[in-house]
Amino acid sequence: MAQKKLLIVDDSPSIRKSLLDTLEKARIFSKIVEADNGAKALDFLMKEKFDFVISDVMMPTLDGFKLLSVIRAQPRYLDLPVIFLTGQKDSVDKIKGLEIGANDYITKPFDPGELLARVNNLLRLKDLKDQLEEKNRQLEAVNKKLEELSITDSLTGLYNRRHFFERLNGEFSRSRRYSLCISLMLLDLDYFKKVNDTYGHQKGDEVLRKTSEILNLNSRAHDIVARFGGEEFIMSLCQTDPEGAFIMAERIRKGIEEFQFVSPSGSSFNVTISIGISSIPDIRINNINDLIRIADISLYEAKKQGRNRVVIG
Ligand code: GH3
Ligand code: MG
Ligand code: MG
Repeated sequence: MAQKKLLIVDDSPSIRKSLLDTLEKARIFSKIVEADNGAKALDFLMKEKFDFVISDVMMPTLDGFKLLSVIRAQPRYLDLPVIFLTGQKDSVDKIKGLEIGANDYITKPFDPGELLARVNNLLRLKDLKDQLEEKNRQLEAVNKKLEELSITDSLTGLYNRRHFFERLNGEFSRSRRYSLCISLMLLDLDYFKKVNDTYGHQKGDEVLRKTSEILNLNSRAHDIVARFGGEEFIMSLCQTDPEGAFIMAERIRKGIEEFQFVSPSGSSFNVTISIGISSIPDIRINNINDLIRIADISLYEAKKQGRNRVVIG
């Protein structure tokens, strides 16, 4: 067991010596520190982290019970293995010690074999507990990653369509309840098939990623940005009226139009995007399907009018 530190606490030098001799011979701990009362022990425990404590109960200044109460109040020592040394007849002390959180006790004079067996037992338990906690931490991290993956689009890192609908549902009912406005933007890259055909699918993917970046840059903390499918994106803008949405959409449209892509052969090219907007309150809109339908009609209108433009529904 590598690099474990033990603290021995006892006011009797002879008991400390026999504990030290037994434990040094067993080579369980890489460092053993002695304290002759509870207050000194506490000093050591605060200065550096120990992995094990063997402590007497009856001591001057601060007895073993009080020492243990202070130790257990520290988050880092919640599961520190602690063994109490008690007199042969002190069964009340043994019970009290276990009740306030000692892991085990040894009666004095102790049998070296028994002491080592109990110490090893507690260390093994502690190791198993640590391993379990580590496994749980790993499991939590994996679960978090899985949850992230289940709500994101792998190519762009934006939210996926399913998650967008979940979030929009919440936003929509909240906005209706409090009579807040909400705007929806549906965005579709223009002639994207041609980008793929001319520069290759990989370049096409790069354009999709860059577009996502521009959308993120032009969104606020509570807006929801998602990939709706293929080269279509969707954004919900909370507490934003059509005029506000138009300003944001124009900023996005210009940002995309102005970005210079480099083709595989080294020449530069640009892409454009068409955007349709819908907003509530609107007497035609009673649910999120209506909201999306009106944005889609606006988007279709933007395409029909010549693309690279924003149309409000
Ligand atoms: P319009 O201006 O009318 O929107 O024309 P368009 O060419 O953009 O529209 P169309 O729907 O005909 O083509 C969309 C193209 O988007 C076809 C498809 O291959 C491409 N596409 C969809 N998903 C991906 C993807 O993940 N990566 C790449 N590179 N291309 C994709
Ligand atoms: Mg399309
Ligand atoms: Mg398109």
